[in-house]
Amino acid sequence: MDEKAVVLIVDDANINVRALEHILKGDYQVKMATGGMEALACIAKDPKLDLILLDVSMPDIGGYDLCRRLKSDPKTADIPIIFLTGKDSSADEEHGLSLGAVDYITKPIRPLIVKARIKTHVTLKRQYDLLRAMATRDALTGLHNRHYLSDALKEKISYAMHHRLPLSLMIIDIDHFKRINDTYGHLVGDHVLTAVAQILLEHVRQEDIAARFGGEEFVIVLDNCSVHDACVKAEIIRQMIENLYPEGIRVSASFGVVQLSDHLDKPAKLLKHADTALYKAKESGRNKVVVCREKLKNTL
Ligand SMILES: [Mg+2]
Repeated sequence: MDEKAVVLIVDDANINVRALEHILKGDYQVKMATGGMEALACIAKDPKLDLILLDVSMPDIGGYDLCRRLKSDPKTADIPIIFLTGKDSSADEEHGLSLGAVDYITKPIRPLIVKARIKTHVTLKRQYDLLRAMATRDALTGLHNRHYLSDALKEKISYAMHHRLPLSLMIIDIDHFKRINDTYGHLVGDHVLTAVAQILLEHVRQEDIAARFGGEEFVIVLDNCSVHDACVKAEIIRQMIENLYPEGIRVSASFGVVQLSDHLDKPAKLLKHADTALYKAKESGRNKVVVCREKLKNTL
């Protein structure tokens, strides 16, 4: 959060771009584009922007069109946009704001006003990002929380069912965790959880979900992944945890793996069957991966 916020200036007049850059470069990391197409290319390359300062009249893609496009794409919809334009009628201003822009500033540029308004909206954006991260992440481990998992899993299942793509899920439970807490204390227990979570984070792809499900229980959702591939991954993670020795303590974990199918097509069903497989892993000696074999022949 201490990093400088990133502001993209989009204006077809180079002189405006330079003037704005001069005003903002001390406080922000400034990116520049001299047209709508160039702006789109810049955003596609790095969508992590904190604010866009957008000219309305440009020859290739106009500012209103560009705003509409960005607001309709979930990847860019949350980036605040401020129109900066010579069009100063209230109808223009109303139109700009109706497209989802947070503010509308008319030229000629008054540096202090531009700076103050940008500061307000960048601050709001960063507070929003922070709140969202707090609402969807587990504070101790940095993994997604259970609340996020239940929403995201529902979406992933409906996407996979619709496109007939495989999806697998694993539940991971640290073996004898209560004993670790009782023997070494909760602080050490927390270190063990964080260390295991780090392994999970390192082994999931961008599109997967790694979540803390409960105390010492984790869930990984693997997009476009067969149960066979999920088991290979589970086995790698199991070995990593076995060789981890966080705080010098021997730690192991048990795994229950399940694949989405026409019969297991709801979050609750997938979790329940993964949990049953996990229970079998625990019952048969722990530190192992067990697959839910039920209705495997009907998998997608
Ligand atoms: Mg212009």
